[in-house]
Amino acid sequence: MKVHEYQAKELLASYGIPVPKGGVASTPAEARLAAEQVGGRLVVKAQVHAGGRGKAGGIKLVSSPDEAEEAARSLLGTRLVTYQTGPEGAPIERVLVEEAVDNARELYLGMVIDGSAGGVVAIASEAGGVDIEEVASSTPEKILRVPIDPMLGLQGYQGRKIAYSLNLEPGLVRPVVSLVDGLYKAFEALDCSLVEINPLVVTTDGRVLAVDAKVNLDDDALFKHRELADLRDEGQEDPREVEASNAGVSYVKLDGNIGCIVNGAGLAMATMDVVGAAGAMPANFLDVGGGADEAKVAKALSIILSDDSVETVLVNIFGGILRCDVAARGLVMAAEAMPDAARPMVVRMLGTNAEEGRRILSESGLDVRLVDDLIAAAEAIKKSS
Ligand code: GDP
Ligand code: MN
Repeated sequence: MKVHEYQAKELLASYGIPVPKGGVASTPAEARLAAEQVGGRLVVKAQVHAGGRGKAGGIKLVSSPDEAEEAARSLLGTRLVTYQTGPEGAPIERVLVEEAVDNARELYLGMVIDGSAGGVVAIASEAGGVDIEEVASSTPEKILRVPIDPMLGLQGYQGRKIAYSLNLEPGLVRPVVSLVDGLYKAFEALDCSLVEINPLVVTTDGRVLAVDAKVNLDDDALFKHRELADLRDEGQEDPREVEASNAGVSYVKLDGNIGCIVNGAGLAMATMDVVGAAGAMPANFLDVGGGADEAKVAKALSIILSDDSVETVLVNIFGGILRCDVAARGLVMAAEAMPDAARPMVVRMLGTNAEEGRRILSESGLDVRLVDDLIAAAEAIKKSS
């Protein structure tokens, strides 16, 4: 789950990370009030679940409460399109009004779960700011990666190694070491999948501040943190992902045109590989989950049929706890309920009650092509696309 910058800063501040003074506003009048409280020169920052706001005009430097109010008026109620949002952009419903800091240097500090390292990796760079992706691809040697042992946690020498790599003036080493320490504590305690401070600013008056903050929470650990569930902003999420999540279906929107319905996450990944191998692109990842019933399978198909980019639906069900006949009834139920959204389906069904499931589908009158294995599925997709 993603949270907004202002929420990320509140969370990180409670672990001792220094952040600029500021307040969040959802109307121009509130922005003026926040600006009056903070005083001085200010930044007005669009709150959307995406980076790249600076380059997209979502961050405005202003010098009075009047201007802050005006900047908020121009941002609120519009959609911000950044390279991370896609062409439809993300709605701006809040702005963060903060003291403008004078940047002497912009550093990068992040932590992320790294599957191949089997744990958290801290990432730091002297070359922080809006072009960190460019730095990572063209000058990777400017980026330090420090894997953290999950049993030992962040070690003192690792924090110092990170701080020294940033070429700080001597007086800032200790504050940065304690900041790195606080960041790891927050990461662990909140069950994050990613935290990122970019830029971590060294101000002209010698302070270190998290000028931007990103916190992603691990969805599978949210049950441990009831208080964090309130930070969710569904308005920033893909509506299909919200619908799927409410139905207990794992769904991630992707860019292709083959809608996938699968039971089991591993099988779903393998299915996407098959789509790729056939020279096509999946329109989504979808795992209906082990204990799925007819209604859940129907929900899954209706979500996929509501996606205009889907041209063919690929169903790959391995019947176990979810029996094939139950899955087939769910598919028919959804397809019949949305006749205008019908698309050809390629269906592979194996396991418990597969025969019954296949019979239900072939007698349904729907455009269904039954295949026996994934190679045949790939062939069928190739022909259809
Ligand atoms: P992002 O573009 O979505 O990553 O948003 P950021 O919060 O990182 O802001 C983008 C850039 O705007 C930063 O790298 C800074 O250069 C600049 N910026 C943001 N806040 C301030 C500020 O308070 N003072 C100054 N001088 N620049 C800022
Ligand atoms: Mn940033």
